[in-house]
Amino acid sequence: KKKPPSFDPSSVVCWEKEKPVPFLFLCLAFDMINEESGRIVKTDIVCNLLRTVIYTTPEDLVPVVYLSANRIAPAHEGLELGIGDASIIKALAEACGRTEQQIRIQYKEKGDLGLVAKASRSSQSMMRKPEPLTIRKVFKTFHLIAKESGKDSQEKKKNHIKSLLVAATDCEPLYIIRLLQTKLRIGYAEQTLLAALGQAAVYTEEHSKPPPEIKSPFEEAAQIVKKVYSVLPDYDKIVAALLTDGVWELPKKCDFTPGVPVGPMLSKATKGVSEILNKFQDVEFTCEYKYDGERAQIHYLENGSVEIYSRNAERNTGKFPDVVAAVSRLKKTTVSSFILDCELVAYDRAKQRILPFQVLSTRARKNVAISDIKVEVCVFAFDLLYLNGQALLQENLRIRREHLYASFEEESGFFQFATSTTSNDVEEIQKFLDQAIDASCEGLIIKTLHEDATYEPSKRSLNWLKLKKDYMENIGDSLDLVPIGAFHGRGKRTGVYGAFLLACYDNDNEEFQSIAKIGTGFKEEVLEERSTSLRSKVIPKPKSYYQYGESTNPDVWFEASEVWEVKAADLTISPVYRAAVGKVDSNKGISLRFPRLVRVRPDKAPEQASSSEQVAEMYTAQKHNHNDKQDDEEDD
Ligand code: ATP
Repeated sequence: KKKPPSFDPSSVVCWEKEKPVPFLFLCLAFDMINEESGRIVKTDIVCNLLRTVIYTTPEDLVPVVYLSANRIAPAHEGLELGIGDASIIKALAEACGRTEQQIRIQYKEKGDLGLVAKASRSSQSMMRKPEPLTIRKVFKTFHLIAKESGKDSQEKKKNHIKSLLVAATDCEPLYIIRLLQTKLRIGYAEQTLLAALGQAAVYTEEHSKPPPEIKSPFEEAAQIVKKVYSVLPDYDKIVAALLTDGVWELPKKCDFTPGVPVGPMLSKATKGVSEILNKFQDVEFTCEYKYDGERAQIHYLENGSVEIYSRNAERNTGKFPDVVAAVSRLKKTTVSSFILDCELVAYDRAKQRILPFQVLSTRARKNVAISDIKVEVCVFAFDLLYLNGQALLQENLRIRREHLYASFEEESGFFQFATSTTSNDVEEIQKFLDQAIDASCEGLIIKTLHEDATYEPSKRSLNWLKLKKDYMENIGDSLDLVPIGAFHGRGKRTGVYGAFLLACYDNDNEEFQSIAKIGTGFKEEVLEERSTSLRSKVIPKPKSYYQYGESTNPDVWFEASEVWEVKAADLTISPVYRAAVGKVDSNKGISLRFPRLVRVRPDKAPEQASSSEQVAEMYTAQKHNHNDKQDDEEDD
C-alpha cells in the first residue's frame, strides 16, 4: 500500500524529464516545510520532493540531498559554507543596486539577511534576463565559493554570490542566503531528511518490492537509511547505492569505511553506584576513567596516512600533528590499518598529570606545527573500531579491548589505555570513582563487556553509563542548553544581558522548548563575551519552532546558535516552562532550579543540546532518588 502523495511541491514548478531540476522547486519545498509544524507532514513533503527528483532527474538527487541537509560535502571533507555577513551584504548591495548602508539598516529591522534579500528587488536593468537557477548550478557555485582561498578570495566569493542573487526569483534569494550562512532554520533536522530519503526510495520502480520479511516498508526503509548513515555519513555513497541497488540492499552496499568517521557512541547519565549495579545486575561490566578532554576518532589507513576526527566528524588532523606522530610511532608493526576511539587530554609531561579541559581549549585549531606546541596532549585510548581491514563494531567490548591492548605500546604522557577496573562491589567502585577524581578525571564510564556490548555508532546507549562525582550533589548530570532569548541587565550589568532564556531540544517536534532563566554562574568577562556574541544573533520575533509559556517575555530573542553546559540543583514541574511538555505532565513542562553556567560547548550544534527526553528521564530519576533519600538539601 502506497502513501497518498501530499504537499507536493512539483504541483507548482514543472520541468521536463531528465532536465536539471529548478532551484525554485527546492525553495518552495522549504517554504512548505517551514509552514508545517508536525514531523510526519514535514517528512512527507521531503519524501515527495525526493521522489519527484528520482523520477525525473535522478542525476540531481545528490545535490538536492546535500542542499536539503544544508551541506555541500560530508562533514569530514571540511568543505564548508558559513559565509560571513560582510560578504553577503556586499553581494546583496551590488546585486540589487543598493548601498551597503541601506542593507545594514534593513538587516537591523528584520534580523535576517535572507529576508532582506527576499525583499530587495533588483533595480539593475538587465539587457538579458539571466537563466533561471537550477539546483546543479547553485550546488556547483556553492562549491566554488567554499573552495576560494588566498588573495582576492573575498572578492571572488562575493562575485559568485552576486551571480546567484542576480538570477534568483521568488523565495530563492531567501534560501540562497540562509544556505550560505548554514542557517536554514525551517524547523527540520537531518533525521527527517534521512527518513524521507528511505521512504522515497521505496517508491522507485525497479527496487520497490521489499523482501517478504519487511512488514512496514516505509518505516523500515527510513530506519535502514538512518542506520547506514550512522556508519557511513556520506550522501554521495548512499545516494549512489540507493539509485543503483535500492534501499533493501543498502546495508550490504554501504558499510563502515576507514577515512569516513562514524558518529561516536555516547553514554547515559546515572546517579550513583547502586543505580549502576541495578541496571547491570546480571551482566559483566567494566569501569573506566572518564577523561575530560576532546573526543577523537583516529583513522590509520593502509597507505600510512592518519586522520583525526572530532566528535562532530570534523577533520581535526591539522590541530594534532603530535598525536599523528604518537599513534604512528606507538602502533605495533603487525598493524596496517585501524580506527581508534579515544579522548585527547591536555597533559603536563614533566609533572605527569592531567590538565583541565580549559587548557586544551587554548590550543590553536589549524595548521599547528609540532615545534610550536605549548599544550601537550596525551591520547587516552578506550576503543578500537577497525583493525587490519576488519570492522570490529559488532564484536563485544572485551574482544575490541583485547585487540586494542595488542595493537599499541603505551608510553606515559603520549599514549595510554584508559585506566579501568572490573568489579561489582559498591565500595570498590566508589573507591575507583574517588581515584578517578583525584587523577583529574570527571568520573567514570561504566560499560558492558560481553552481552549487549557492541559499538553503537551515534547512539546514547544504555550500555555505557556515566557516573560523575557531582551527580550526588546536583541533578543527574549537567544539561546542554541553548540560549534563545535574554533580558537586559540592570545596575552593574547595564550594557550586557542580565539573564538568558534557555531551551532544550525536542527531537519529536523538532523544536526548542524553554526550560529556565539563567543569571548566575557568569564571570564578568564571560557575560560580556556571551552578550557580544549573542547580540549578532538577535531576531525580531521568536521562531515558529520555539515553544515557550505565554508569560515568558524576554527583551530580545536569539537565533538558536550556541550550546551552554548548565548545572542545576533540581528539576521541577512548571506551568511556565515547556521542556518535555507532555512527557511527564500532560500540560506542564519541566524547569531547573538554580541553574548556573558551567561552560560554553563550541563542539555541539543547537540540535545536539539535551533532548526533552533526557530532561524527562532526569526528572524521573531524580524523583526516585528523592523518594529514596528524602533529600531536602537546598542549593545556593
Ligand atoms: P559530557 O558533557 O559529560 O562530556 P557528552 O554529551 O559530551 O557529555 P557523554 O556521552 O555524556 O558525552 O560522555 C561521553 C564522553 O566522555 C565521550 O564523548 C568522550 O569524549 C568522553 N570520555 C572520556 N573518557 C571516556 C571513556 N573512557 N570512554 C568513553 N568516553 C569517554
